Amino acid sequence: MSRASATSARSAPARRGQPGAERTSGPASYLLRGVSIVGGDPVDLLVRDGVVAETGRGLRADRTVDADGLVALPGLVDLHTHLREPGREDAETVASGSLAAALGGYTAVCAMANTDPVADTAGVVEQVWRLGREAGLVDVQPIGAVTVGLRGERLAELGAMATSAARVRVFSDDGKCVWDARLMRRALEYVKAFDGVIAQHAEEPRLTDGAQMHEGEVSARLGLAGWPAVAEEAIIARDVLLAEHVGSRLHVCHVSTAGSVEILRWAKRRGGLTGRPSRVTAEVCPHHLLLTDERATSYDPVFKVNPPLRTQADVAALRAALADGVIDAVATDHAPHTVEDKECEWAYAKPGMLGLQTALSIVLETVGPDWDLIAERMSRMPARIAGLAGHGSDPAVGQPANLTLVDPAAQWTVEPGALASRSRNTPYAGMRLGGRVVATFLRGVPTVLDGQAVRP
Ligand SMILES: [Zn+2]
Repeated sequence: MSRASATSARSAPARRGQPGAERTSGPASYLLRGVSIVGGDPVDLLVRDGVVAETGRGLRADRTVDADGLVALPGLVDLHTHLREPGREDAETVASGSLAAALGGYTAVCAMANTDPVADTAGVVEQVWRLGREAGLVDVQPIGAVTVGLRGERLAELGAMATSAARVRVFSDDGKCVWDARLMRRALEYVKAFDGVIAQHAEEPRLTDGAQMHEGEVSARLGLAGWPAVAEEAIIARDVLLAEHVGSRLHVCHVSTAGSVEILRWAKRRGGLTGRPSRVTAEVCPHHLLLTDERATSYDPVFKVNPPLRTQADVAALRAALADGVIDAVATDHAPHTVEDKECEWAYAKPGMLGLQTALSIVLETVGPDWDLIAERMSRMPARIAGLAGHGSDPAVGQPANLTLVDPAAQWTVEPGALASRSRNTPYAGMRLGGRVVATFLRGVPTVLDGQAVRP
């Protein structure tokens, strides 16, 4: 990757001090020369004072990045990241996860609530939010738990989290399903007042007790307990009806089956038919767009994930739904686990995979260089769903300079030890992937240049 190293950008002095506060603007201006904005014709893009100051030709700045052949996307936004702090700093911290995110092209991530302690109070969400500010590499937007301790018994302090400094708008018990229909209804009613959204991990627990992988031919062959598609689909069907009844916003996490896609298609069309636009949105993970349950035949727990890898027919349905909009967003479900928790017998391994640094390459692999679609599914829609102002806007004059530069021609090999995460559980180890993040800017300040992190 010689093109960016030909610039003076790498030798630019990094600014010191209070990182979060300082990353709002910088003394240096950056010229991205010959960049293609979301796949458009090459232009020069001038970043100054935290915003895209100018686009055109023959512009000047303190630093120049030769962006010939590079594509500028709005900074990616992840709706589903497990940062593990507080509680499991041995697997990930807000700082290490933020670094992985920036290197993956992200400028904002939503941090899931299943930490220890659980993010079910204003105090914990503010702690995570503050740690994100201190790391200063991406905007860390905490997600609040729906129920106290994720126990599914009574609602957490949703209002207190919403009015806290973290301004929580997305609530989820992710890792667990809000299986009690009455509690789910009350949560949907509660967040409606401030246009919040309940993000559901759709898994009927009575149907997945002891489940190890997708229930199907492969699980039968391997003799592993199955996680049937219907356990996801039954909850999604119930929840879209509940959300419609309440008139509230539902977001479905990590959709993994063809049947779920059909239910979402029906729900969205139904909303349209009644003249009331559907308030249901959905996400899919990169691994569900690429990998199938055949991977379990290796018995390598790196392929154990919840919901599990499904069949080729599910993969095809998810790809089609991502293209036609039934699925709104790609979310990583970045789930770091320590070697002890992951490199053991399949049955004892924790479910989950790393995702932040590989998501863009995997999506590129599955949808091709459709930059508008990638911007829509990985930035604009997730920013809108999470209500993150300042994110999800294409680089244009006057917009906050939250953007990422991608080299579509670059190839790279995934080396688990080289990833920024504290954990190594990537299912793509040794794989050759296309498309590489060259630079990421957060409010005009580079967090990544020449594919390397710029420390605040
Ligand atoms: Zn989940």
